[in-house]
Amino acid sequence: MDYEKIGLKVGLEIHQQLNTRRKLFCGCPTVLREKEDATLTFKRFLRVARSELGEVDEAALEEEKKQRTFIYKAYDSTCLVENDEEPPSELNEEALDIALEIALLLHMKPVEEVHTMRKIVIDGSNTSGFQRTALVATDGWIESEEGIVGIETLCLEEEAAQKIEEGEDAVVYSLDRLGIPLVEISTAPDIKTPKQARKIAEKIGMILRSTGKVKRGIGTIRQDLNISIKDGARVEIKGVQDLRLIEKIVENEVKRQLKLLEIRDELRRRGARVERRVLNLSEIFASTRSRVVKKQGKVFGACLRGFGGILGIEISPERRFGSELADHAKRFGVGLMHTDELPAYGISEREVERVKEAFNATEEDCVILIANASQERAEKAFSAVFARAEKALEGVPEETRRALPNGSTAYLRPLPGAARMYPETDVPPVEVSEERVKRIASSLPETIEQKEERFRKEYGLSGELAAKVARTYPEVFERLVNVCARKGWKVQPKLIATLLTDTLTELSREGFEIDAESFDFEGIFRLLSENAFGKEAIPEILKFLASHEGASVEDAVEALGLRVSLDEVERFIENVVRERGDFVRERGISAVGPLMGVVMKDLRGKVDGKVVSEMLRAKIEAFLRGSEGKK
Ligand SMILES: [Zn+2]
Repeated sequence: MDYEKIGLKVGLEIHQQLNTRRKLFCGCPTVLREKEDATLTFKRFLRVARSELGEVDEAALEEEKKQRTFIYKAYDSTCLVENDEEPPSELNEEALDIALEIALLLHMKPVEEVHTMRKIVIDGSNTSGFQRTALVATDGWIESEEGIVGIETLCLEEEAAQKIEEGEDAVVYSLDRLGIPLVEISTAPDIKTPKQARKIAEKIGMILRSTGKVKRGIGTIRQDLNISIKDGARVEIKGVQDLRLIEKIVENEVKRQLKLLEIRDELRRRGARVERRVLNLSEIFASTRSRVVKKQGKVFGACLRGFGGILGIEISPERRFGSELADHAKRFGVGLMHTDELPAYGISEREVERVKEAFNATEEDCVILIANASQERAEKAFSAVFARAEKALEGVPEETRRALPNGSTAYLRPLPGAARMYPETDVPPVEVSEERVKRIASSLPETIEQKEERFRKEYGLSGELAAKVARTYPEVFERLVNVCARKGWKVQPKLIATLLTDTLTELSREGFEIDAESFDFEGIFRLLSENAFGKEAIPEILKFLASHEGASVEDAVEALGLRVSLDEVERFIENVVRERGDFVRERGISAVGPLMGVVMKDLRGKVDGKVVSEMLRAKIEAFLRGSEGKK
């Protein structure tokens, strides 16, 4: 795919929760709760708020049409601010400091004064009907191999309540997550390929983690994608949790938009039109054998002129054009069937014939059906489907979609308009002083990438090992390297890095959990440098310690029978050489190799291989000298 030719433009919006002690506008802790620990459950209905200009947000209006009840679960760790029964307190300064730190790492310019705004959100995820958001910095950049990408804005926002159940008439939300501070980082639409989109998302994620002040784990970071192509439209895709999906989603969205343009051209060629006429076809299905149509259930139909065969066209993985229309019917809780896919679902050929006759439909037309719904609901659903079908004649509709696990997307709601922001008068503005910015700028953290680079140069680690340790236990690694250097223990940084990454991963896979931050690695390295055992024994020692609480490294060495004196080892090697005297005389000093195998069979893990090899060489040399002397 020639992305330049089709004019692909991608922008990212990254939402990352901050690991502050308190929430953004109240003193509650930022902890998630077991949902059964809720101490209070209450209900709300939300209505659309008007903007200052009296405009109404389209996305908000659409949600209002659904007339759903919102049910909230509150906890002993949430307060009246989350319930929207008490005004918010001032903006959390700790969160603002972290936001500024991230902004500076992204080369952004902080604003002089932070103003909190209200952004209309009417899906119930905020008890107040809006989300508080504050612009903190603008105009930065980030670099990847594919070029520089602008960072337009960084906002400090309150996290929404967590949806825990959703039905047609009611949605249940949990208030523990509501109000956790998060940063929203928006890039310019400078990204030009799917791969670059993933790389930039990874890089921003790396910078966020470099602060050590963001929350980790599932759901703590989410990315939205804004995607458009030439002649297509801007489509916002929400809720991508897995970075590996980004490339696939961009590729699929490009294909979807191209397909929709092809469909538009074909529909125009055919002179297609949407006949906004709904017929009651229940009589045709009065004695149907289909189990999709309920007994005595009502069936309504409408005809899309010139749409024959179009609804069956695949436009993204496991999604046909018909699925796009069905998404709009689904908003009213009904399914959509169409003659492109019938006969099916037990609906007979004869019934399909009669449906088509009812509209005088030809091969070029498509009849769509909604079953088991009241006339009112069916008409509402058809009206939404008609609107979407009409947009197909124009091309790609601007809209918000949600990411599906297979890399496809489905319709979510219209794009939010500019009319949805207005000032939050309950929260005073916060000045961002020059001193404050200077203080934060002077203590910016080394990023994970910078650490990786330094570990490679300073400690001679391979690129792969440096990358692994910089992303897992960089502090533990450097502390141990320094301790070993200070005490004169001969332990290579490479060994320490491998231990903290590959070895711990391997042990964890086998079920042995070791807390790298608090584990007594120093004890191991001290005995290792005294040749109390060989480095090959370290995994066994770790396993022993992980499964024997309170045991020391000495206990492990003792219990595993690793301790041998070097005198014993020397005598043992001397014996091996003497017993194989003929072989040694025959091979001379090159007997070291084969005899290493023999010796290590007994000494592996007890003595370092290098020590053994040196000792063996010395003993063979002495033996050869001795036998020459005898000749
Ligand atoms: Zn609170």
